[in-house]
Amino acid sequence: MNGDNSSPLPRVQNGEEPGFVSYAVRENVAWVMLERPEVANTQNLRLLNQLDDLFRCAIDDTEVKVIVLGGRGKHFSAGHDLGTPERDKHMERERKHLWPSHLGPVGAESQYVLEQDAYLGLCRRWQEMPKPMIAMVQGGCIAGGLMLAWVCDLIIASDDAFFQDPVLRMGIPGVEYFAHAFELPPRVAKELLLLGDRMPADRAYQLGMVNRVVPRDQLEKEVESIANEVADRPGFGMMLTKQAINHVEDLRGKRTSMDSVFHMHHLAHAHNQLTSDHIVGGLDAKAMAAANKPKK
Ligand code: ZN
Repeated sequence: MNGDNSSPLPRVQNGEEPGFVSYAVRENVAWVMLERPEVANTQNLRLLNQLDDLFRCAIDDTEVKVIVLGGRGKHFSAGHDLGTPERDKHMERERKHLWPSHLGPVGAESQYVLEQDAYLGLCRRWQEMPKPMIAMVQGGCIAGGLMLAWVCDLIIASDDAFFQDPVLRMGIPGVEYFAHAFELPPRVAKELLLLGDRMPADRAYQLGMVNRVVPRDQLEKEVESIANEVADRPGFGMMLTKQAINHVEDLRGKRTSMDSVFHMHHLAHAHNQLTSDHIVGGLDAKAMAAANKPKK
């Protein structure tokens, strides 16, 4: 981004926490950017909390009409942080809902309370934000990356973008925010999960999961143009429109199906723990990365 009247502000909390996300307001649009390009914008827990804090800034700023969520570098996001040096699951985190700390409990409870708050809880809250949010997706949008794109109201992708949920390879039936069968026709959702292959942007567009596909070098310009157009609409009308569509999805069972699949997800974590002594089975992070290389 090269905004004229603002510059990205790396988020620093408590004077010592590194900033994993940046925030800039250009005209009436807040640009919230994941800033871990060296690890394909994988999401540690502090990054997710910083996102939540910055969304709060955007909601509180009356000048901001639209939010853009993007990722710096080659990829939008490669999902949850499974193994970078900044992985922070061992650290206490500021909880955003009334769930207990994940650091005290043993057995299945620790991961359960963590994911209720940090994954399912935050994603639901973001989907329900009263201002429209546009995902700007390039490169990989993988597993936890899908969660960030799916909570947005519009998804604009570059022609090199791909969408993938390969976590079945680790014995897990899809990522925690289980919107797969709402975002895609059921048989395509099964294909996405069972094969775990990369879905190219043009196919995602044909299936209605992506709103527009543009050449990589035009992505930011296109998103800016759409954001500026949306920003012209009356704010309260947009808020109600978002709520209306979210309400229809919930009437179709989105919320209850997500709750039910969340518990299958945690049965899988517990099963993996019992059989392999780790919450994810099968491939580890390194083997996952190798298995995710595109097929020749
Ligand atoms: Zn999980």
